Amino acid sequence: MSESEKVICSFCGKNKQDTNILIAGTSAHICDACIEQAHEIVKEDLNDDLFSAEDFALLKPKAINEHLNDFVIGQEDAKKVISVAVYNHYKRLMQPDTTEEDIEIEKSNIIMVGRTGTGKTLIAKSIAKLLNVPFCIADATVLTEAGYVGEDVESILTRLLQAANYDIEQARRGIVFIDEIDKVARKSDNPSITRDVSGEGVQQAMLKLLEGTIVNVPPQGGRKHPDQKMIALDTKDILFISGGAFDGIERHISNRMNTQSIGFKSNKGNDIEKDNLLQYISPQDLKSFGLIPELIGRMPVVTYLNPLDRKALKLILTEPKNALTKQYQKLFDMDGIALTFDKKAIDIIVDKAMEFKLGARGLRSICEAVMLDAMFEFPSDESKKDLKITAAYVKAQLTKLSFTKLKVA
Ligand code: ADP
Repeated sequence: MSESEKVICSFCGKNKQDTNILIAGTSAHICDACIEQAHEIVKEDLNDDLFSAEDFALLKPKAINEHLNDFVIGQEDAKKVISVAVYNHYKRLMQPDTTEEDIEIEKSNIIMVGRTGTGKTLIAKSIAKLLNVPFCIADATVLTEAGYVGEDVESILTRLLQAANYDIEQARRGIVFIDEIDKVARKSDNPSITRDVSGEGVQQAMLKLLEGTIVNVPPQGGRKHPDQKMIALDTKDILFISGGAFDGIERHISNRMNTQSIGFKSNKGNDIEKDNLLQYISPQDLKSFGLIPELIGRMPVVTYLNPLDRKALKLILTEPKNALTKQYQKLFDMDGIALTFDKKAIDIIVDKAMEFKLGARGLRSICEAVMLDAMFEFPSDESKKDLKITAAYVKAQLTKLSFTKLKVA
């Protein structure tokens, strides 16, 4: 080969034989090492852009709230509190490294109290989607203190890393939703009598995670892969949102507020709504419920979700961007079938969901039962191009499947 014909990488000048792959362009070549380096540069640049001031100028609390409105029905208080907390959290991330004299903005981890199926996970998920950050859900009930059977607290971060495609920079700014935090509450009011494995120990283990520390995370999780190389992940900037039903916490709220006494006045002088005491939730009630004060201190933003009434369930079925009825319509539309739901049909589905007392969670299972036959039959029948779901149809389907006897998962 003559000197002029020698093929080299136009970026680093390496000879073809010294590279693994050399890709030819119209008038230049690039080797695999340069491609990788270029990829890193692009990735870093994009990451830097993700949290630039301009981006956040677009995401003021009201904008975050509005985005939530597209997906979450009702729950106005929770949406407002969380919009502000998330805004402040990411503002904190944007502040340049603080010196000693600077005012350091503390993390605003959030705790949401509300019955199952009222939108706690949905809110956390929608926030992560909006901010385009990795998101994972961890179930507090499977966590145990290190050394006991179950998952270590660190496994939460494994999931976050996986959600971030092992991009540590991304994972560092992710959102973790810890579900069923109420289940790790201390069972006994007196902390000195028992030290239960599933309760206080886990809370203690969670503390360091929440406050911000460097955790060695097993990238593949668990103890099944003892040889895996740990990844060091700083949790300082991870936003933790936890949620729980806190069954029976109303008793603690009412005790604190002294609603048993005559008058039912709150300290603001307003009448107390005894039906929805959750709206008065305070960190003190979480403590009486069995969360340790240190943990509560690390989740300073406390908010609540209302139980969903008939009207809310109806809206959930039909209104949000990805409402269930819209999802079914899209599925049928893909087969060229026009699907419509009668108002009365929606009413019956909602009635059933109220009966199940599973919030909006029941809606999905009920709809699946109602739609199953149609989803089975229609795609193979060319003659069927319309489907109208009527009240009679819903009733017939539910009776046929003895749905009333089924337990909704
Ligand atoms: P949980 O409060 O138990 O975390 P989820 O957020 O997981 O409840 O809700 C279960 C499903 O119910 C969601 O995927 C969503 O479709 C629906 N849902 C619950 N609450 C709402 C709500 N307020 N607005 C819209 N959809 C909701």
